Amino acid sequence: MSAEPLSGGGPVVPGRDPGRPAPRPAARRLTPVRAVPAPATTPFVRPGRHAAPETAPTDAAPDADAARDAPSASHAAGASLAPEPAPTRETPEAHAARRVRETWDEVEAHVDELADWFAALLFSLAPETRALFPTRVTEPARRLVRSLVLPMSTVDRPDELRRLVEPLVREHRALGLHAGQYEPLGVALVGAMRRYGGQAWDEATEHAWVRAFSLAAGPMEQAVRAAATPAVTAGTVVGHRRLSWDLAVVHVRPDVPVPHRAGQYLTVEVPQRPRMWRALSPATAPRPDGLLEFHVRAVEGGWVSRALVAHAATGDRWRLGPASGRLGLDPGSSREVLMVAGGTGGAPVLALCEDMARRPDPRPCTVFLGGRVPEDLTVLDRLRALAEEHSWLAVAAVCEDDPLDERTLPGTLPEAVLRGGDWSGHDVLLSGSPTMIRATASALLVDGVPLDHISYDPFAD
Ligand SMILES: Cc1cc2nc3c(=O)[nH]c(=O)nc-3n(C[C@H](O)[C@H](O)[C@H](O)COP(=O)(O)OP(=O)(O)OC[C@H]3O[C@@H](n4cnc5c(N)ncnc54)[C@H](O)[C@@H]3O)c2cc1C
Repeated sequence: MSAEPLSGGGPVVPGRDPGRPAPRPAARRLTPVRAVPAPATTPFVRPGRHAAPETAPTDAAPDADAARDAPSASHAAGASLAPEPAPTRETPEAHAARRVRETWDEVEAHVDELADWFAALLFSLAPETRALFPTRVTEPARRLVRSLVLPMSTVDRPDELRRLVEPLVREHRALGLHAGQYEPLGVALVGAMRRYGGQAWDEATEHAWVRAFSLAAGPMEQAVRAAATPAVTAGTVVGHRRLSWDLAVVHVRPDVPVPHRAGQYLTVEVPQRPRMWRALSPATAPRPDGLLEFHVRAVEGGWVSRALVAHAATGDRWRLGPASGRLGLDPGSSREVLMVAGGTGGAPVLALCEDMARRPDPRPCTVFLGGRVPEDLTVLDRLRALAEEHSWLAVAAVCEDDPLDERTLPGTLPEAVLRGGDWSGHDVLLSGSPTMIRATASALLVDGVPLDHISYDPFAD
């Protein structure tokens, strides 16, 4: 697909809602973006050419940030007469990461508009990137923006940054981005932030964003250059079974097995919706023949999930991105395990239980699987069959609207989990919608489960 032409009035954003205000003309905005004050000839510093050392403003420094922050801090302290604590010196990295976090919090409410504007700028700067996106750019552009901001907000924590780079780079590669495109990505991001950053956006903030991007993009660019394996594997649909109007099970045989761990998810692109990558979690532990099983629920208004449930067919060729995800058992822990899954969130939980069943030393594990109606519990029979075979596994089904049988618990998942025991000494894995995860995690935290015992991958960004 060729690049979208720039109209006279501004960048064309295909898929933009007609009711939404159009972005301002590109030329007017792009020129200043290129002129962002930066320590190099281009706004972003390539790997090995990190920004020149610079003393970041300290909390006590007389810059605009400090001037804004200082009065509120002293008011909060009640203008005490106690001696002022010595100002802590903030490193340039910490300053940049903090400014990114603060400004991002301000713009989150406008993230869709920001993503559209970002995409329009990106397509102007690097027209070849247009072909990587579907007609409606908002959702993938939003994901891409977030995948850049996340490492930028951790440039002050090298370990965390290193941990983030690998999965993010895998997603960037699956999208089709190459190392040389980080620079236009950064220019587009800062340009979009300049437009949507509001009153808090000033020269110092822009400088902090440029610095944070330089620090985060360096390792990502290097990782993309160093990647030895293909970013994407093709696979063929070998089975499509519709369980209800909104649920289907799809089997895909990849041309070569996709390396992944039980509990991880893959990004997939299906022929019914080209360039709309979505995350799906295999419902089985990795198999020697590489076969993948996905349980898909059609969400209301969902572009990909509805097409998948209704129209996926044997013989379809899918593209499978790399595996990612935090859901998994900590090999260093010997604690008992609690897994809580809602709806298709049961898929990675089944994969994890299958994986444990193959191990010589499975840990005692309790699974709560919940849904509104019995049909939502697509993996219940297989979990119950595993529990019959293995004494280390106990499975409880929870149905909010319609109890399945006498073994089904009433109420919501968090209610049933809390009634079910004391989980404060367990490792906890949560899988399903963000709402379910938030509710269950909050309930468990209040009930004494330490935060660092809980891991999850919400089924939405
Ligand atoms: C780590 C991870 C693992 C996932 N695993 C699975 C899986 O195994 N099976 C599966 O069916 N889905 C899974 N998902 C969700 C899946 O990736 C898609 O987000 C979902 O199918 C909706 O895509 P869509 O294109 O149909 O909806 P979109 O067109 O992207 O969105 C349409 C509307 O639906 C809302 N929406 C988006 N996602 C959801 C959701 N999950 N629940 C409710 N509303 C939503 C959007 O806010 C929007 O209003 C997973 C998501 C993540 C992040």
